[in-house]
Amino acid sequence: WEAVGLGRTLADGMSQKLVALAFGKNAAALAREALQRGADSAIACEDATLTDFRVEPYAALLSKLASERKPDVILTGATTRGRDIMGAVAVDLEAGILSDVINAELSGGKVMATRPVYAGKLTAKVVSESTPQMLTIRNRAFPAPTADAGRSGEVESVGAVLSEDQIATKVTGFEAAQGTVSLTDAAIIVSGGRGVGGSDGFAPVRELAGVLNGAVGASRAAVDAGWIAYEHQVGQTGKTVSPDLYIACGISGAIQHQAGMRTSKVIVAINKDIDAPIMKLARYAITEDLFAVLPALSAEFKKKLG
Ligand code: FAD
Repeated sequence: WEAVGLGRTLADGMSQKLVALAFGKNAAALAREALQRGADSAIACEDATLTDFRVEPYAALLSKLASERKPDVILTGATTRGRDIMGAVAVDLEAGILSDVINAELSGGKVMATRPVYAGKLTAKVVSESTPQMLTIRNRAFPAPTADAGRSGEVESVGAVLSEDQIATKVTGFEAAQGTVSLTDAAIIVSGGRGVGGSDGFAPVRELAGVLNGAVGASRAAVDAGWIAYEHQVGQTGKTVSPDLYIACGISGAIQHQAGMRTSKVIVAINKDIDAPIMKLARYAITEDLFAVLPALSAEFKKKLG
């Protein structure tokens, strides 16, 4: 929906139409919701080959639609799937791709995108000279438009490009993910680092995350030590997150950690060392023992939030 919102803004600025694409199970219902959220029209494909995500059939379909309909701009979320599809399609179309975009504006009829470089140390403004311009946008960097039940439009149904015997990848099963809140979607993240001292040290981190209805993150040091599963890792070699509130507990703020969280809207750091790099990045730096601060915060938020 964030891509639909940005697409609407760009389409208005370029006097173009915004077309939403929905592939896979329930695509037609999603396509109708995309219309309510701002698309002018939509294209849906519910072929059985698209039910479980695989890059070959998704990319083949997007490449075909893009070749036929010649859009100026293609947008997806910078999710694992979005990046997978757009990389493959960019090769097919011989188009440039701007990944992990955190801001976008129009400049001379082209989209000028802002994206982090050097692990987030700098941000660069970049334009792709190719047509189409392809952008993947960072989760939560753009607002998601709300649905307006009064909006509607045409949903065109199309067939798949590849048949099952042309697809090399087969989905053989699924494993349930641990944890209930997706890190990249979370509005609030409480993260623990080496400073929590062990698996048990994550208890107050989890408690605060629970009270705030947020997700639990971690530094690589905590993951490498085996205190918490890799899926919680934030950073260059973990997840890139952009929550409204990021609370870093016992994390020094190495550049590789910052790469995954520095675009968080409000950063709170709890660290005994005032000179830790995270303290400069944080809007609120608490120079205290995390084992004293976290229970106090949890108790106070419980009172306020009921
Ligand atoms: P430390 O740097 O050891 O910091 C622990 C902090 O806890 C210290 O600042 C200390 O003052 C504080 N502390 C200790 N006890 C307490 C207490 N009781 N109360 C309050 N504060 C306390 N790291 C990532 O996080 N994510 C990545 O994706 C990532 N990718 C990497 C990729 C590469 C190629 C490389 C080389 C490194 C990567 N790293 C990554 C590792 C990164 O460089 C750091 O080593 C790591 O982030 C450090 O984790 P930390 O902050 O938890 O530990």
